[in-house]
Amino acid sequence: MKKNIALIKGDGIGPEIIDEAVKVLNKICDKYHHEFSYTRVLMGGESIDATGIPLTNEALETAKASDAVLLGSVGGPKWDHMPGHLRPEKGLLSIRKGLSLFANLRPAYLYPQLKASCPLRDEIIGDGFDMLVVRELTGGLYFGVHETVEENGILVAKDSLIYTEEEIRRIAIKGFEVARKRRKHVTSVEKSNVLDSSRLWKKIVHEVSQDYPDVTLVDMLVDNCAMQLVKDPKQFDVILTENMFGDILSDEASMVTGSIGMLSSASLNETKFGLYEPSHGSAPDIAGQDKANPIATILSAAMMLRYSFDMDQEANDIEQAVEKTLTQGYRTGDIASEKTILVGCKQMGDAICANI
Ligand code: NAD
Repeated sequence: MKKNIALIKGDGIGPEIIDEAVKVLNKICDKYHHEFSYTRVLMGGESIDATGIPLTNEALETAKASDAVLLGSVGGPKWDHMPGHLRPEKGLLSIRKGLSLFANLRPAYLYPQLKASCPLRDEIIGDGFDMLVVRELTGGLYFGVHETVEENGILVAKDSLIYTEEEIRRIAIKGFEVARKRRKHVTSVEKSNVLDSSRLWKKIVHEVSQDYPDVTLVDMLVDNCAMQLVKDPKQFDVILTENMFGDILSDEASMVTGSIGMLSSASLNETKFGLYEPSHGSAPDIAGQDKANPIATILSAAMMLRYSFDMDQEANDIEQAVEKTLTQGYRTGDIASEKTILVGCKQMGDAICANI
């Protein structure tokens, strides 16, 4: 199969981790006789340096014309003094908006080999957990009207939380579709005991669930979900939720795995198109030193194969190679412990390739 991937290396450790992900993708090409071509796209700090702005229209059009986008990370102290609209992170918001990426997928998987990094007790961890937060990304509270007005001499701040039936339906469909690629269990998280937007959310999610009789649906209030994530994370497969709840819960879910260098993510639109990136930032403190953990980016590339290219077997291969590499004892500094083999970013990429 031929695919054209837009590569945004970005700033800090971005170029190093993307190089390792490309190495792994090329290994997959060799094994399965696929042809992946890569088109470089500038975004963030490197785009500011080259063009004066964090994302040009031309760069956005190149990304749109590709089959999927793989992103390292953007930002760093060099651009911290810039005004908001010219900061590297503005490139991220612009590309998400420009590509209509309304669904954010963040897996939280505890590798048995990294159990020691998990802050939860052994009896809670059990055999480990494997969940995926599907978060609505372009609606709700963050995109409503925000204003602070003076009423009768008192300052009043207002933020509106708006969801349309269509916005809920399309993210619900995405949630059920990805559940079909996993253990077929969806937990829909809302606050329907208080919020109208949540009552509509629940109604539409239940309507959509009628088309997925093979997927189990459970409703859960957001406050209970926050508790259950640390009490019994094993119960979750897909957590389907709106923007703000998803923002908070996906961070909580990823923290219980204990290792930021391992966490991948995907942002999808209505078609199979997506932008794939690690959940961490550009780690300027270790940039250019061959110390970065490339696994989150390599696993993001695996998500790209699964969700944008329908290459499930190839994605499984990468995920199994990562597990095998950890079992062999290889660790970058962020996940290293006694009795493990400390390697750099490049060596970690090589070890994973060798296991494909
Ligand atoms: P960060 O995630 O970059 O780093 C936090 C800590 O985790 C650092 O100690 C770093 O060394 C470590 N770390 C992160 N990723 C690692 C990896 N792959 N391997 C080993 N260690 C890793 O967060 P920060 O320091 O708050 O932000 C740094 C810059 O990144 C800022 O400019 C921020 O705006 C930007 N940022 C970008 C994105 C993105 O591109 N999506 C996301 C978050 C932050």
